Amino acid sequence: MVNKVSKLKYYSFEEIPPTSLFERSSLYSIEPLGVGTYLIESLSSYLSRLAKLHNVKINLLTTNVLGNYFQKEYLKNINNFGQIIKSINSYGTTTTDIVSSIERATGRANLNNLTLLSLSGVLRAKSIKDKKAWCPLCLEVFKENGNVYEPLIWYINLIIYCPIHDIKLVEFCPQCGYQQAFITSNTLPGHCFKCNKWLGDMNKKNYEILAYKLPFHTLWNQWVNTNFSSLINHMQIVNYFPLQFLISSKLRQLLKLYSFTFENELADLFGLSRSTVYAWFCGQKYPPIIYLLSFLFVIDVDIVSFLYRDKIDKNIVIYSERVQYIRENIIKQNTSKEVNRINKQELRKRLEDALKYEPPINLKEFCNKYNYNQSNIRKYFPKLCKDLSQRYMTYKKFGKQQKIKLACAEIKQKMIELHDKGVYPSQVRVERELNDFTGIFYPEVRQVHKEILRQLGYRN
Ligand SMILES: [Zn+2]
Ligand SMILES: [Zn+2]
Repeated sequence: MVNKVSKLKYYSFEEIPPTSLFERSSLYSIEPLGVGTYLIESLSSYLSRLAKLHNVKINLLTTNVLGNYFQKEYLKNINNFGQIIKSINSYGTTTTDIVSSIERATGRANLNNLTLLSLSGVLRAKSIKDKKAWCPLCLEVFKENGNVYEPLIWYINLIIYCPIHDIKLVEFCPQCGYQQAFITSNTLPGHCFKCNKWLGDMNKKNYEILAYKLPFHTLWNQWVNTNFSSLINHMQIVNYFPLQFLISSKLRQLLKLYSFTFENELADLFGLSRSTVYAWFCGQKYPPIIYLLSFLFVIDVDIVSFLYRDKIDKNIVIYSERVQYIRENIIKQNTSKEVNRINKQELRKRLEDALKYEPPINLKEFCNKYNYNQSNIRKYFPKLCKDLSQRYMTYKKFGKQQKIKLACAEIKQKMIELHDKGVYPSQVRVERELNDFTGIFYPEVRQVHKEILRQLGYRN
């Protein structure tokens, strides 16, 4: 336990609870694991280890002990445990409150490094996973070293593969199949919250290995891993944090280095609107981390140099194969309304081509294929869009007629066969015989059924 006097330099006098001066810390002052490396422990892992050491459930520890230190009233309510936990490794004001309360209760400083608080100027919404993900091989290594914990980096949304073992992080318990909640009242690092089984595994072959994937997929994911690893390393060393406005000023630096058409080029290459990208460069808006990383990936500038170095001293080149990969695989999957920079010429060509497709596609499929917004493209080429829809409708109508025709012929044949075997060809009985039983749903087909029953002498 640590004497509280050492904490005076971190808190203003009013912030210190009156009784806590010269008092022992309320909780064991355990050391976070992996400090100084990119595998630094997450605060959720730290909290669950604390609870285990004190032999109490995490929710009770949170409300009964940490609750005394929370600034925000609503966090003191045990029913808000879920809310607290969701933000524990994150970068918002709730996280700040949680960090400072755990620091006070344990007498530990710098616990903000166990969260993404230092990167709050860079990360935007959805940067943190809402479910647990882990590397079974790392867990085995930690176990062997006698300290099982869960590193912060596993919780970053963009981290899909283990930065050390290059295997895909696991999200489901191999024993009971449950997806793992972020943290529950009894969570133990490295164990399933449901069946309590150990989540580690030594056999790499049981997992998807990054190096066996397509080259650009591998390159991108390794790049993301390296960048986040160095960001996490770096944030523990430096004593200043990148703020939002820094991103736009750094982007403008790139603009000068490369060419003054850089922003337009990037917008076009990524299929984004020029005004969106312009807003990022001039600081009216901030790019989501996925776009920022994608930009840096295609020009091969690492994020630590981008954010923390005074100058980027290299020739800026746009690697077009990287752009293509990013556009097809990363941007498309993370599409928001912003992705709608329309190249009219390209759109016209695509629509004209689509009008020749066999089988025909509808406007929705077309938009999904190329990542357009239906109402936007209708504004540009109303006639072509209408033609595309019309062609599809005709095809569907023709397809329907064809289906009815086939179903009528088939039902007739099956009814006669049943009749010959001495079986009454009821609708239900015939339905079982049909290749495609949905044919019977058409009134035309049911009419044929009745007609044949009559012809076979079952009805007058
Ligand atoms: Zn690993
Ligand atoms: Zn399980």
